[in-house]
Amino acid sequence: MKAPVWNLKLYVAGKWVSEKESMPVIDKFTGETFANVPVASRETTERAIGAAHEAFPAWSRTPAHKRYQLLSNVSRLLEERREEIATIICREAGKAWKYSVGEVSRSVETYRFSAEEAKRIHGETVPMDASFAGEGRVGYWLRTPLGVVTAITPFNFPLNLVAHKVGPALAVGNTLVLKPASTTPMTAIKLAEIIEEAGVPAGVFNVVVGSGGTVGEWLTVDPRISKISFTGSPPVGEQIIRKAGLKKVTMELGNNSGTIIEPDADLAAAVPRCVMSAFANSGQVCISLQRLYVHKAIAKEFIRRFLEETRKLKVGNPLEKDCDVGPMIEEKEAIRAEEWVKEAVREGAKVLVGGKREGRVMQPTVLVNVRTEMKVMCQEAFAPLVSIYEYGKFEDAVAMVEDSPYGLQAGVYTNDLKKAMYAVDRINVGGVMINDTSIFRVDHMPYGGNKLSGLGREGVRFACEEMTSIKMVMIKP
Ligand code: NAP
Repeated sequence: MKAPVWNLKLYVAGKWVSEKESMPVIDKFTGETFANVPVASRETTERAIGAAHEAFPAWSRTPAHKRYQLLSNVSRLLEERREEIATIICREAGKAWKYSVGEVSRSVETYRFSAEEAKRIHGETVPMDASFAGEGRVGYWLRTPLGVVTAITPFNFPLNLVAHKVGPALAVGNTLVLKPASTTPMTAIKLAEIIEEAGVPAGVFNVVVGSGGTVGEWLTVDPRISKISFTGSPPVGEQIIRKAGLKKVTMELGNNSGTIIEPDADLAAAVPRCVMSAFANSGQVCISLQRLYVHKAIAKEFIRRFLEETRKLKVGNPLEKDCDVGPMIEEKEAIRAEEWVKEAVREGAKVLVGGKREGRVMQPTVLVNVRTEMKVMCQEAFAPLVSIYEYGKFEDAVAMVEDSPYGLQAGVYTNDLKKAMYAVDRINVGGVMINDTSIFRVDHMPYGGNKLSGLGREGVRFACEEMTSIKMVMIKP
């Protein structure tokens, strides 16, 4: 018997709302519609902003210990519904089961970190008498919430990248309207159920679904919004900045991440880690390993082991517990990835494994004989493609990793401290991972990019800072 199709609702002003128009949520592996979600009208979107605006004064004055408790409730309820939410991620994003469960576990932690951070938001005293004009005065500064935050999120981590905006916003006393990616709206709606059950007051958190060009834009231009927190592609990020006007923005954008493997690297650890970093979530991770620079002294052995490991990957139905690589988000993206591979081959590259696709499923693909100007090297692939480049001098490899319009994260496998520090100094990125790949992230570390990879930082404490403003107080007794 076929499972029933869920009919979902939006969550606005503490109420569950239907709309005239709806859109399907597609299982990315089977292609079936497994839910329908309402598309927010302009009126509903404005109602959501209005509700968040009205809820702000009371929420911003809610004591920290209460915000801590409510966010702890969100974390606990998410943990209780781990399997259910992981199944939804698996189906709507096409993410392999083990990584879907992993995403829920990370989000449980992200809300716990946010709860803890709610208790730590504080300022400092200022030694006023350091200036002759400040003598006899008392000064201190506070962190204050901004108001209504718009959160616009991508498809690839529909729970945890939402958590990185919702957790900090609520922790510091902001209210929020969330617009998830149109391909993965269901996880966000399930989160709204959890937030309601956790006891967060009506209007503090709202979810509206619809296209970026309509709902996303309405949430960008509205003057009642104080801050836009966006994760997605650089062109959309730039468009939002142009339209936002005088609002605070945080931009978490793309990358074509590089990792260097020096001859002293522990290959037994590095090879499986590099394979996972290139192909987890079909390479649709902003810090996926896309460019792999391997020293020529070990290249032959590294590539042999890398291919052996890649061939072991189980590709296909993400709901199967041992699946490693599921489908990509849309068939057009898989077609694009396949085209990029063909183009690279026409320009002289060689495919060692993969290179083909079936529907949305792109085979994990390893390329060699690549050149810097090929798309697979110089643009963000966001697909299960990795290019291996053999180098002779460490300094050249560092320069090649740095030679990118992006600057999110990079990895270097070496036990030579001088080389590690050289790379840390020369690569202009938000994070350098030594003896790991670009993909390493835990949710409380500062995370974000330079250059085309974005503006500002997430990682709970850092997002809290970006979601507050500083108020200076001077007292003349
Ligand atoms: P995307 O196409 O840029 O979409 C991201 C979000 O923006 C979606 O909710 C989208 O809505 C919305 N949007 C589209 N056009 C808009 C507009 N004109 N105004 C306002 N909102 C608009 O990105 P994606 O394909 O979902 O995600 C992939 C990208 O995200 C990659 O570049 C990846 O590197 C980046 N990413 C970065 C990070 C990071 O932390 N740095 C993390 C994950 C992903 P629709 O879905 O309706 O189009």
